[in-house]
Amino acid sequence: MKRLLKGRTNGWVLTVLTVLAVSLGIPAQAATPSPKAAPAAGQADATGNVYAVEEHADGTTSVAVYRPAPGITAAALVKKLKARGLQGVQAPASGDVTTLALPCSYGSARTLECSPVRWAHNGYADPQVYFLDHTSSAWPMTAVVPKWHESVGIDSYYRWYTAGCPGGGRHCVHAYSSNYGNTGWTGVTYYRYNGDRYFIDGSVSMQLNDYYGGTAAQRRNTACHEAGHVLGLGHGTSTSSCMYSSRTSTTVPNADDFALLPRIYP
Ligand SMILES: [Zn+2]
Repeated sequence: MKRLLKGRTNGWVLTVLTVLAVSLGIPAQAATPSPKAAPAAGQADATGNVYAVEEHADGTTSVAVYRPAPGITAAALVKKLKARGLQGVQAPASGDVTTLALPCSYGSARTLECSPVRWAHNGYADPQVYFLDHTSSAWPMTAVVPKWHESVGIDSYYRWYTAGCPGGGRHCVHAYSSNYGNTGWTGVTYYRYNGDRYFIDGSVSMQLNDYYGGTAAQRRNTACHEAGHVLGLGHGTSTSSCMYSSRTSTTVPNADDFALLPRIYP
């Protein structure tokens, strides 16, 4: 929890039941809470995104990061999530204005966690991340993934999901879209990481919500955003990147994102 609070001045702390995953319809491979899991906690960050964090007895941590839909505040999103299983809201955390240091930031770009949570190289020069696309044609994963592949340090590959996961130390991430309804979020990324702060294979997925529609550029913005989380990036401070916390019409990462990724994956 303390790590997640770094640099966030307006955090909420609350508890989430493991049934949250069930009530939100998270795919089975994205949510594998252990029966002995510790009580989970969630928070909204200063940029208005909402995290649900669950620390497990085995030293791993599960996180869901939600992107609020347009016109929905972090507080309103927390309320909606609570209605679907989040419980135990506590007082907002005291302000922690610790400045993020390298390698947790570069210019406007931020890592998803600090210290960074990242993909293992598994013998490759760069970690190999395969996005297995289950989304409808409204969501341009075919454009988003090759753009992220331009980054130095990590390789992103697009695959239609029926092609399956190639194995051999390559990582696979499932991307879904559906009308998830009036959930308060346009997109969400789920991930679980181990005590060494590596993503756990099979735990990472993203969901894109048809309910909030938007223009083609806005949908690409959200798909780009969630895919950036998958690679280990957090919320940037510039609207010139799709990693900005709120939905915009910016369809691509910015130079700071591309400068930070090789620092996460040296
Ligand atoms: Zn986000």
